[in-house]
Amino acid sequence: MKSHDLVIVGAGLSGMRAALEGARAKIDVAIVTKIHPLRSHSCAAQGGINASIDKEDSWESHAFDTVKGSDYIGDEDAIRLMAEEAPKVVLEMDRMGTPFSRLENGDIAQRAFGGANFDRTCYAADRTGQVLLHTLWEQLVKAGVPVYEECQVFNIVTDGEGCAGLVCYNIKTGEVFPIGAKAVVICTGGYGRVFNSTTNATSCTGDGMALAMRAGAALGDMEFVQFHPTGLRTSGILVTEGARGEGGILINAEGERFMSKYAPSKLELASRDVVSRAEQTEIIEGRGINGAVLLDLRHLGAAKIMERLPQIRELAMDLEGVDPIHAPIPIRPTVHYSMGGIRTDMWGESKLPGLWSAGEAACVSVHGANRLGGNSLLDTIVFGKVTGKKVCEHVKGISGFREFKTSAIQEVKDWIADLKARPKAGGIRPFDLHQRMSTSMNLNCGVFREPDRLQAELDAFPGYREDYAKIYLDDKSDTFNVDLLRAMELRNLIDLAEAIIRGAVARKESRGAHSRRDFPKRDDKNWRKHTLASWDAAKGEVVLSYEDVRTLGIKEYEPKERVY
Ligand SMILES: Cc1cc2nc3c(=O)[nH]c(=O)nc-3n(C[C@H](O)[C@H](O)[C@H](O)COP(=O)(O)OP(=O)(O)OC[C@H]3O[C@@H](n4cnc5c(N)ncnc54)[C@H](O)[C@@H]3O)c2cc1C
Repeated sequence: MKSHDLVIVGAGLSGMRAALEGARAKIDVAIVTKIHPLRSHSCAAQGGINASIDKEDSWESHAFDTVKGSDYIGDEDAIRLMAEEAPKVVLEMDRMGTPFSRLENGDIAQRAFGGANFDRTCYAADRTGQVLLHTLWEQLVKAGVPVYEECQVFNIVTDGEGCAGLVCYNIKTGEVFPIGAKAVVICTGGYGRVFNSTTNATSCTGDGMALAMRAGAALGDMEFVQFHPTGLRTSGILVTEGARGEGGILINAEGERFMSKYAPSKLELASRDVVSRAEQTEIIEGRGINGAVLLDLRHLGAAKIMERLPQIRELAMDLEGVDPIHAPIPIRPTVHYSMGGIRTDMWGESKLPGLWSAGEAACVSVHGANRLGGNSLLDTIVFGKVTGKKVCEHVKGISGFREFKTSAIQEVKDWIADLKARPKAGGIRPFDLHQRMSTSMNLNCGVFREPDRLQAELDAFPGYREDYAKIYLDDKSDTFNVDLLRAMELRNLIDLAEAIIRGAVARKESRGAHSRRDFPKRDDKNWRKHTLASWDAAKGEVVLSYEDVRTLGIKEYEPKERVY
């Protein structure tokens, strides 16, 4: 059986950064990834990464903005750690060769992003994620870290007490194989595909979160789903917040710059939850255009658009038929980011011994109820590094591996065989069920949440599970069987959607991205706490419990009304 002291699942920024720590500590570390590392969703990140590298700025100010942005439910110890580490990790990426955009004097350029008191977002035009990912990939190739590429993890295996390793599926050959590990770090990114309108890649199915929950870890704060204010109207593909950071404005059908009503001081650069609600209100009240509002960049001029936002221009022309130099872009709020994830302490350790997590898959929690733009790339690099370091220390202290039950491998083989044997007659295609659930999640668990709709969605889950038991595969082959992969992912998406909806039904307040029509105010007395979602195997459903926010007693961080 293959085994490594440390296995990282996921080769996005967080996974690669964690693996680099393993290589530096001379640990036997390997990465498993379902897609080529450079295709990880991190590569789609456009706008930038936050760090207080300017002399006029401070990490304390960055930490304050993040606590406020989180709507006072982020864990303050982890937020301070992230803000303090930010300049160090960004400069380290710079020295490794990341080609950041520069000022005339050679300093790293920084742009304005939402919810921040300072222009602290470092960027490389509108391709920041891609250049960071390539930089780390070079380091891993240099260090010779082995990568199980195009291998999808189907299960996390435990010995009843802690994590013993993984059951993987080789996408190229159809082979099911185990990997034993002393520790596993889940870096599998977000779950945007729970919803049908999302900026996320098709690979963002939250696998690691669902597998971890079923293996015995808890998920934190799943009800907080970030809608990005500027997804392209038709495809949901992202237009970076950097477009507003560079001076882009939002207008409605009447040509009014409507943000002046909702956030008179920060306008378009209020935090994402605030801007998304403002847009949705304009659309609902009839001041939208075909279900969208407009992002106007024309006044920036051709030169600036071509230099700072070249990819945005291409996307707008290719997908909406609009050249932003000459016409405004139709946009609308679109699902973008998972604030929730595998609940960990500030070092990335989950409650399941041997299982760790970093990046968007984790809920450390630095983003609380609402993530600030530019803080996620930062989260991946800081906590990839921090968690990588800590897990290496942990692994060095362990002598043997946990028992890996071979029955765990057989279970996966049987599951695949059963799926392939199912007849078409009376069956349901995984794609159709996914379409139905994700469309319904968008409708019932959106920017604004209404009690009847939330309850209707929750009531739909027994039905989704019954239908899941009827899915069949058109493709029975062993090579690149996308049908099978989607079926595996769909099971994860259903479990995560249930965690989201249960958390949303239970949380009777409005905070950050969770905005309830029937409880429009934040309720710190009863709800300043994290939701934990666990898997109840006997019931076959998600159950909830709660945990206090980690606060530091700093006066400045005490909850206040959040105005921008
Ligand atoms: C369009 C877009 C633009 C963004 N722009 C910004 C920005 O400008 N600034 C910012 O701060 N944030 C931005 N974000 C958010 C940020 O990019 C992501 O949160 C972050 O990059 C996620 O990195 P990650 O390492 O957690 O996971 P990802 O980069 O998503 O990587 C996940 C990895 O897990 C692997 N994986 C998943 N499931 C399995 C499985 N079952 N088996 C094996 N491997 C698996 C995948 O192969 C992949 O390698 C953006 C997000 C999107 C979608």
